[in-house]
Amino acid sequence: MDRMNRIQDIYRPVAERVKDRDEVERRLAAEEAEGQAARCRDCGIPFCHGAGCPLGNLIPEFNAAVAAGNLERALDVIGRTAFFPEFTGRVCPALCESACTGNVHDDPVMVRQVEKFIVEAAFEHGLVKLPVAEPNGKTAAVVGSGPAGLYAAEALRRKGYAVTVYEKHPKPGGLLRYGIPNWKLDKSVIDRRVALLEAAGIKFVCGTEIGKDISADYVRRHFDETVLAIGTPNARDLKIPGRDAEGIFLALDFLHGAEMPGEKNPERFGARGRKVLVIGGGDTGNDCVGKAIREGCASVLQVEFMPKPPETRSPSTPWPDWAYMLRTSYAQHEGGERRWNVSSKRFVVENGRVAGVEAVRVEWETSPQGRPLKPTEVPGTEEVIEADMVVLAMGFVGVPAEGLVADLGLQLTPRGAIVPDPERHVHAVGDCATGASLVVRAMADAKRVVAGL
Ligand SMILES: Cc1cc2nc3c(=O)[nH]c(=O)nc-3n(C[C@H](O)[C@H](O)[C@H](O)COP(=O)(O)OP(=O)(O)OC[C@H]3O[C@@H](n4cnc5c(N)ncnc54)[C@H](O)[C@@H]3O)c2cc1C
Repeated sequence: MDRMNRIQDIYRPVAERVKDRDEVERRLAAEEAEGQAARCRDCGIPFCHGAGCPLGNLIPEFNAAVAAGNLERALDVIGRTAFFPEFTGRVCPALCESACTGNVHDDPVMVRQVEKFIVEAAFEHGLVKLPVAEPNGKTAAVVGSGPAGLYAAEALRRKGYAVTVYEKHPKPGGLLRYGIPNWKLDKSVIDRRVALLEAAGIKFVCGTEIGKDISADYVRRHFDETVLAIGTPNARDLKIPGRDAEGIFLALDFLHGAEMPGEKNPERFGARGRKVLVIGGGDTGNDCVGKAIREGCASVLQVEFMPKPPETRSPSTPWPDWAYMLRTSYAQHEGGERRWNVSSKRFVVENGRVAGVEAVRVEWETSPQGRPLKPTEVPGTEEVIEADMVVLAMGFVGVPAEGLVADLGLQLTPRGAIVPDPERHVHAVGDCATGASLVVRAMADAKRVVAGL
């Protein structure tokens, strides 16, 4: 077979996908997956695996298996390092692809798509089974059921612990379910995995907040190990004048539950017919743009305080580092506008409702390699950006000191991350331990911590 080029567009057509809530990416067909996996070069030093993947996935090995049409081997290889490739296969920014040797020649291998192909084909063929674990006579509680909590639970089970997962929301999944929209990760994918974990003996207790409904110290005393995986629930707010006006929401309130089959957000979060302003240019902001478009907004503008990154890899992040460069997500292809260097100063309020934002342009002093260092407001660039709905998507700032953390007498770092207390068998994994990050990093952190128990 001739060597395939990288498939450049794996998305369903925009006109079709904005009318539904289904996943925006299509799946590779078997021949495509084989051709894409065969693009993996025998590059000697697989930076994808070492510098790229936090889980240490054996990427060249699973590519070789897929290229040879050997699904069982591919599944076996991926299963050695990753428990939930169906999550990363959908939402990972693919640090491995940024590290791929293909970047030096033409285009990187579609590692994430190959990963998704393996796990989905394996589910279809009934090949996904969890290994049987010999009980070790010990118990473990996992608090929080996002990717870190789920990963820790499965890792503990494989070590023989009897595992109970506590989750404050009605269903497990953390931000996989209540943050990331259905069109990036269909919620049935989480249900399918949780059903497997339950069948393997992991107990899920949902709708129970530890530190409120049950004392965290009670949990600690009743289990041999307690693993905290509570994420970073505190969103960064924009406390400028006018913040209390109607129509200004935090991103997670806007996104929460809206895109799950059978669930609907309260009417006041609806963007239909609205002029929406999304403040924040990251993943969360992108998903808010995607939601506003699907709801039929009149317009959507996404503004970012930071400057526009370069169109190609910045010299500050040479290959195989994760490239600092402009990224355009699925949502930006669906519509709306983006602007950079925008600092919001004050909300304009009319009759109690937001009517816009007074903003000013900032310019950035940069390092010799082009990284932004220090912003300065540019006099005379003040403007009013009109909007009758504003969504704040400016990241997350750590864990609250009250509730669970206070119950357990734990310390927080200056950035609001939990300091674990291994002597009392209390551990912390994922975003609550590292700060808000990525699904793959949350799982890799859980893997590292449980490996040490
Ligand atoms: C909108 C959005 C889009 C994103 N998109 C991507 C993406 O495309 N790719 C990517 O890699 N990452 C993405 N991320 C980041 C990613 O979702 C997080 O890094 C990841 O989910 C962190 O996992 P976690 O398990 O540490 O925490 P979380 O997923 O936050 O899970 C924590 C869980 O703990 C529960 N909990 C908290 N306190 C308690 C308590 N006291 N008792 C019981 N339960 C409790 C919470 O309800 C929650 O279920 C996105 C984040 C957001 C908000």
